[in-house]
Amino acid sequence: MNIPANNPNLKSWVEVPANSDFPIQNLPFGIIQTNGDSPRVASRIGDFAIDLKALFVLGYFDNMPFSREDFDTDSLNAMMMKGKEGTRKLRNRLSKLFSTEHDDLQKNEHHVSQVLVAMSEVTMLLPIQSRDYTDFYSSEQHAFNVGCLFRDPDNALLPNWKHIPVGYHGRASSIIESGVAIHRPKGQKKPPTADVPVFGQSNLLDFELETVFFTYQGKPLGDSISTKEADDYIFGMALFNDWSARDIQGWEYVPLGPFLGKSFASCVSPWIVTIDALEPFRIPGPKQDNPKILPYLEYEGEKHIDIKLDVIIQPENGEENIVGQSNYKYMYWNMNQQLAHHSVNGCNINCGDAMGSGTISGPEKGMYGSMLEISWKGTKPFKMSDGTERKFINDGDTVIMRGFSEKDGVRIGFGEVSTKVLPAK
Ligand code: CA
Repeated sequence: MNIPANNPNLKSWVEVPANSDFPIQNLPFGIIQTNGDSPRVASRIGDFAIDLKALFVLGYFDNMPFSREDFDTDSLNAMMMKGKEGTRKLRNRLSKLFSTEHDDLQKNEHHVSQVLVAMSEVTMLLPIQSRDYTDFYSSEQHAFNVGCLFRDPDNALLPNWKHIPVGYHGRASSIIESGVAIHRPKGQKKPPTADVPVFGQSNLLDFELETVFFTYQGKPLGDSISTKEADDYIFGMALFNDWSARDIQGWEYVPLGPFLGKSFASCVSPWIVTIDALEPFRIPGPKQDNPKILPYLEYEGEKHIDIKLDVIIQPENGEENIVGQSNYKYMYWNMNQQLAHHSVNGCNINCGDAMGSGTISGPEKGMYGSMLEISWKGTKPFKMSDGTERKFINDGDTVIMRGFSEKDGVRIGFGEVSTKVLPAK
């Protein structure tokens, strides 16, 4: 696939710091707001936001399938309604405008000053309005670990797990942007030693290290999206902290699955990295022949992606502690399979739908994506640099997730998703 904006040799006339997540080969999309201005669509290069509304108004998107309303708005949804072809053209145009090989924009200082906004002056908003949120459970090591913790290692994976990308319908209303603090949730739980349930604050508050992908407008109700077609329906990815209250979840989930232990908050990083920008980092996935998967889940080509993922706990006024280092490559089921499975019954997918990967855990200790696994259900507390221990998340802790792909000297990153936990209300 030839996507001009992915050329690793491209350089920008905008200075990009070494090891930035946002070189000219990234050009993600997000929603920015600056003092006194209304929210608008932006991209990013180095330490600058690129104001796409300003670029449109100044005529740099002439002969493209976009209108001012697509950029003068508080979500990426309108822009995403132009589909993969539209957003790919847009990213390729941005790449040209900021490449050293073209000076149309660079030579006009007055325009540059309207288009580039220092990130220090920008507030990032929730990038996409999602009508629906689905969460999968597609990392084999995570499913295995949870199976070991709650059943036994010989029966860790349930019989359906290698046949179906297991998932459930989550709650879209509580998807929030990075930087929004959450209150510790309350609910009903039944401590192992109690005969009856009690009501109170969750004492087993946990993060889940995930990625999320967002869809373009899908097909009408009744139609399905194949694994081959799925590429045309996936816009991009972000980091995703899918918060969990393990004690509430553990009591409520039988027999219908996750509910209030999951629906209080899921946090998304502000820049949506396009699947186009991630194409160079595709890798083969695991063999899926034991057991063999059904034909509708088979796929061609490399559909997994190498994305390094870190999860960090930062105590109040304390320093960052990396508690887990995983990678998106450890997924058993890829996004194409998830989307094909999701729609195989005719379920319609809408523009902006959010699809969580499920907690991503790697094969070794130190690569786990939840405190449930890191502390092995509280039996092996994590030792923090300040001498304290963590079994789960304390009030005042900030949980930060970061991620990037790197190859041929090009680093495509996601920035971070960061959430502080406040005491229960
Ligand atoms: Ca999850």
